This record gives sequence, structure tokens and C-alpha cells, in this order.
Amino acid sequence: MEICNCTAAETPNRDHQYSRRSFVKLGSLGLGASLLFSPSPARAGAADALLLSCMDYRLVDDLVRFMDSKGLTDKYDHVILAGAAAGATAEKFSSWNKTFWEHLQVAIDLHKVHKVIVVDHRDCGAYKIAYGPEHTKDPALERAVHAAVLLPLALEIRQKYKDLHVETYLMALDGTVEPIGEHA
Ligand SMILES: [Zn+2]
Repeated sequence: MEICNCTAAETPNRDHQYSRRSFVKLGSLGLGASLLFSPSPARAGAADALLLSCMDYRLVDDLVRFMDSKGLTDKYDHVILAGAAAGATAEKFSSWNKTFWEHLQVAIDLHKVHKVIVVDHRDCGAYKIAYGPEHTKDPALERAVHAAVLLPLALEIRQKYKDLHVETYLMALDGTVEPIGEHA
């Protein structure tokens, strides 16, 4: 039997000591309190957008690249719900619907976002759960199913928040993105 001398009570102590050492080391380098406690000017202003995306692990880097390509690096809040637009609207995920609207309100209140960007993706497991798997076998039908969810969500956002601009997209598994709707 393996014997461990560690106790739960020791862990916070070690963490505390490490934090103190880190602080002292920064202080000795002359970086001190101003670095630790002053907000970075680049992060002090408002965000431009709220991104709603799926949680799918395959596209995390592609989402960041897409937002970078739109000039929005570090300028957007990010709500992640499985299914993106489906997560925000499908009855199957009714408790998440509320989560989306609450987060949108918080993003407006805290960061003054003026745009919502919704990125669905192809071969989405949450869409298969909500609407059945068949649509993913035909690319045109799959696009139509996503449009049928994305566009009513965009409309609902605009109806609730008249000043918000809304963009909706469908991402393929290779990271390429096609606009859905009239902002295209
Ligand atoms: Zn998905």
C-alpha cells in the first residue's frame, strides 16, 4: 500500500507560500504593485461583440482564427453552448435558452457589446440531438436546417435589442466559414 504524507491541510499552505514568493520576486524586479493591480489600458474599454458558439473541441482554434480575421482579437465576450444557435433556442435545451439571454444582457450591461456573432458548425452533435442526424448527410439540407435556426434567433435578438447588429455563420470542419442570412 502506498503511503502519502500529504494532507489536505498542507495544500493551501504551499499555494499560499508560492504566491508570496511570486509576489516578492516580482517586487524585487521593480514590477511591483502597479503591474499587479493596474488594469491594462487595452482591456479597460468596452467589448465590440458577443460570440455564441458550440463547445465542439475540433473547432476551438478555428473560432479564434475567425474572430482574429474579423479584427476582434480580445474584443469579444464568448458564450459557449453545445449547438450554438440550437443551444440558445431548441426546446431540447430549454434551460440553456435562458442562459444565452442572461449572458447577452450581462455582456451589454458590463461590456457594452453592440454586435452578436453566432457561429454554428457542420456535423454538430447537438443539432443531431435536437433535430435528428439525417440532415448532416446532405450539405445543402444541413445548411438549410442551420439557417432555419440561426435566422429566427437573429430576428429575436434584433426584436429584443434594436441597437444590436447580428451576424450568423456556419463553419465547416476545416474551419472555413460561410455567412448565413442577409448580412452576407
Ligand atoms: Zn456542435
